Amino acid sequence: MIVNMSPEATEEQIQHVIERIKECGFQAHVIRGAERTVIGAVGKEGRRGELEALQAAPGVAALVPISQPFKLVGRELRSERTVIDVGGVKIGDGHWVIIAGPCSVESREQLMEAARGVQRAGAHMLRGGAYKPRTSPYDFQGLGVEALGFLREAREETGLPIVTEVMGTEDVSLVCEYADMLQVGARNMQNFPLLRRLAKVDRPVLLKRGPSATVKEWLLAAEYLLSGGNPNVVLCERGIKTFEAELRNTLDLAAIALAKELSHLPVVADPSHGTGRRSVIPSMCRAAIAAGADGLMVEVHPCPERALSDGPQSLDLPAFAKLMRELERPMTTRAGVMV
Ligand code: PEP
Ligand code: MN
Repeated sequence: MIVNMSPEATEEQIQHVIERIKECGFQAHVIRGAERTVIGAVGKEGRRGELEALQAAPGVAALVPISQPFKLVGRELRSERTVIDVGGVKIGDGHWVIIAGPCSVESREQLMEAARGVQRAGAHMLRGGAYKPRTSPYDFQGLGVEALGFLREAREETGLPIVTEVMGTEDVSLVCEYADMLQVGARNMQNFPLLRRLAKVDRPVLLKRGPSATVKEWLLAAEYLLSGGNPNVVLCERGIKTFEAELRNTLDLAAIALAKELSHLPVVADPSHGTGRRSVIPSMCRAAIAAGADGLMVEVHPCPERALSDGPQSLDLPAFAKLMRELERPMTTRAGVMV
């Protein structure tokens, strides 16, 4: 951190800032210029949060951070990319991982049909919500533990590892018994008690980006998991709130590239929630991969018109199979082969 003193700062104020930097556990390096003094706070062991309060000290013009606050998630300390193993499927090893399945698990028949269909089409993992975060309390809330049983059955039959959402700390132990990876939903990205609890489980976590979260906030949410003891985190970009009204959310493609630049963790994209619109999902899948995504999460329903949640953004099985065939082909642009 660089502390930029104002040109009018007195010697007493400069000495005070130097003392505070030391009290916060850093070394202070003072550079005296003709017009102003800048003081560098250097060191790994200091308390950064306390240092940031120096913004309020007399004589301080500005604080300029020079390192990222997400130490374990960032690439400053770890340059090689992390590969996460989810029930034998590797995310981040250079091959795209396709996670597909219904928004909600609605019945054994619905889930089995979806699971068989996505497996036939070449998906690597199965998704399906047992506990659903719904905007309205009157909407379908998920079948809970019954759905977890169906997910287990689907894994036994298809061999596809399962990812499903856990909404509260009270459900973590139960969901761990069934799921290969636990999803933290977008609305829960900053549920800190939940993150702290998930830091203690031996399951990978799929951390969705909050609809209004900056990339820094998203990575700091991941930092809760890593710093608490769970290194197995996959980031998921699922669209953010913008002024665009034709789409449910705006899939932030640049955030995929940025998260991969700033962090060693794998990043997957969810164009289903990221757009809310079936027709644009195949294009956004290709775009996400071109932006560097390590995988995709796509909602697929055997009969979207009857879906109890997210029907309008769900692909049916033939559309998903077509998407998978398209993804296998090299992507071309007018300029030539892209991927
Ligand atoms: C979901 O995956 O079905 C879901 C509810 O996602 P999000 O938390 O991104 O809205
Ligand atoms: Mn959904």
